[in-house]
Amino acid sequence: QSILGIESSCDETGVAIYRPDGGIVAELVYTQADHAAYGGVVPELASRDHVRKLPGMIRELLDQASLSPDELGAVAYTAGPGLAGALLVGASTGVALARALDIPAIAVHHMEGHLLSPLLEANAPAFPFLALLVSGGHTMLVEVAGLGRYRLLGETLDDAAGEAFDKTARLLGLGYPGGPEVARLAEQGDPERFDFPRPMVNRPGLDFSFSGLKTHTRELVERSEKADHADIAAGFERAVVDTLVIKCKRALKQARLKRLVIAGGVSANQRLRQALDRALPGQVFYPRPSLCTDNGAMIAHAGWYRRHEGRRDGLIAVRPRWPLEELPPAPEAAER
Ligand code: ATP
Ligand code: MG
Ligand code: FE
Repeated sequence: QSILGIESSCDETGVAIYRPDGGIVAELVYTQADHAAYGGVVPELASRDHVRKLPGMIRELLDQASLSPDELGAVAYTAGPGLAGALLVGASTGVALARALDIPAIAVHHMEGHLLSPLLEANAPAFPFLALLVSGGHTMLVEVAGLGRYRLLGETLDDAAGEAFDKTARLLGLGYPGGPEVARLAEQGDPERFDFPRPMVNRPGLDFSFSGLKTHTRELVERSEKADHADIAAGFERAVVDTLVIKCKRALKQARLKRLVIAGGVSANQRLRQALDRALPGQVFYPRPSLCTDNGAMIAHAGWYRRHEGRRDGLIAVRPRWPLEELPPAPEAAER
């Protein structure tokens, strides 16, 4: 059975077709460009762009997969968390399509999509595991006992890790999204030249805070010249990576877990992957970089795991705020 996945929670329009027996059959992601000029996502622009792109992308996707619409078995769409208007575009498109085809529509939690994305890879971790979710809007450590059995162990008290990268990029005059740009500039920099704080690592607990790091970076940028920017980027990246590694090790120990999954846009960061692989050899699982940032494949894939929750009543519901822990546990059979 082929599942169509639709992602529209923020500024990526993503569609994909997933089959439990064949993996990702086809996928398309469109990243909206108009936001760059504003240094952040403008909700109204995002909704309008999703409306403009989504129908054509679904048509092109089906073409690519050589599928006709009536060969689809279900439609999964991101129902939250995210921007209300943007979510509504994907939700109404997905529900309308499912209704027209008389197939189930499955409301997917965006962060569960990220969390399960490493399971799309050949080297997939078995349950239970610890998940570090690091993205534009979230920084969370989650104990994952099984599908839908999630316990939040720690989260950010202020900025998300990806947000810290984006703000640092802005301070350094780089483009949006900032993560890849900061990482690229950091390659030419010396991470040891400037001192950066490792926020909250000396305090017990598993929460994060990145706003102090941002203030530190701003002050450093104000006192320095353009020629220092690569060293600042490298020092900043090193501080974030060190902080995440320390907290992951602590959480694994505390929860008595062996496997670590990292997902979300920041998990594409090469230095983070290398540092975790070095600290925890053989224990770290992550998706390919294109599945780290927002995409339709992770939504179709999570939809497969939540297939028993599919509905045919045509109800369009989104949840812009939706705590991960509120997800119901799935029956064990769904974990395969
Ligand atoms: P959320 O998933 O929390 O709702 P989002 O969907 O906007 O937020 P993602 O698409 O998962 O976030 O990730 C985007 C974030 O990842 C951006 O903040 C971006 O700067 C960051 N990012 C992407 N690539 C990298 C990288 N190589 N290094 C560091 N950060 C990165
Ligand atoms: Mg995005
Ligand atoms: Fe995301």
